[in-house]
Amino acid sequence: MRFWGFLASVIPFELAQGLGVTGRFFFKRKATIQYPEVKPVPKDRFRGMFGFSEERCIACHACAKACPIAIIHIQDHFEEVEVEGKKRKKKVLDRYDIDVKRCMFCGLCEEACPTKPVAIWLTSKSYEAAAYERNERLYFDKGRLQSWDGVRPYPGVLTPAQGQLPEAPGGAPAGSAEPKP
Ligand code: SF4
Ligand code: SF4
Repeated sequence: MRFWGFLASVIPFELAQGLGVTGRFFFKRKATIQYPEVKPVPKDRFRGMFGFSEERCIACHACAKACPIAIIHIQDHFEEVEVEGKKRKKKVLDRYDIDVKRCMFCGLCEEACPTKPVAIWLTSKSYEAAAYERNERLYFDKGRLQSWDGVRPYPGVLTPAQGQLPEAPGGAPAGSAEPKP
């Protein structure tokens, strides 16, 4: 017994064990990245910052009705317009706000939108919208939902104001209109 105790005190078995663990993980693929220098690459279906197109929105309120926590606020009014010599009533969007700080990114608003392409979408690959003043800065009106003031787009991604499309946040897919400068 004394002999084994002496041997254990001379040979550093624990050190060898520890180095074995270090060696095993040294050659494994690293799970951590050096954020923000290195940014995680989002999947195509990743839901991040909202994209919004006022041009395509028909103020139908379907997205607001679909939202389970009622954080989309829409107001509109009717205006008379002349189409091919006939007077018609047209809905005009006055307000389209999303309280993004409360959003759970379920995507139900995007699914409910009837326009093609959709007028509201979350597959924008962009997730850098951190702010000190969350009540002010994470409440987006229709202007900021398009300009992305205060949001950093994922590298290579256009803002909605620059012509981002739901299926191609980085630029227009083949056959569609060119993105705006
Ligand atoms: S993604 Fe956000 S805004 Fe859209 S329906 Fe879900 S909770 Fe509401
Ligand atoms: S569902 Fe689409 S078109 Fe209808 S109000 Fe919402 S964003 Fe606009």
